[in-house]
Amino acid sequence: MELTLADFVFYVLMGSFALVVLFTLVSRTLNARAEGRSLANRVICRLCLHAFEDSSHVETVDCPICGAMNEKGRSRRLG
Ligand SMILES: [Zn+2]
Repeated sequence: MELTLADFVFYVLMGSFALVVLFTLVSRTLNARAEGRSLANRVICRLCLHAFEDSSHVETVDCPICGAMNEKGRSRRLG
């Protein structure tokens, strides 16, 4: 099996393409994780529906707009 210059260039191009695809997938995965993290900190006020982010680890946060107390995460209570 002879490796010609054309074959060599072809393999290099394919390798570069594979690296780009791999890098893109990894980058997207990292971005998706970052979005998920910010969504976990997102609080939507139950009173005025203002959406804000709170990175503290307390269970209840006060809305910066109307001051209403909101529970972080999904509320399990109905109504
Ligand atoms: Zn509010």
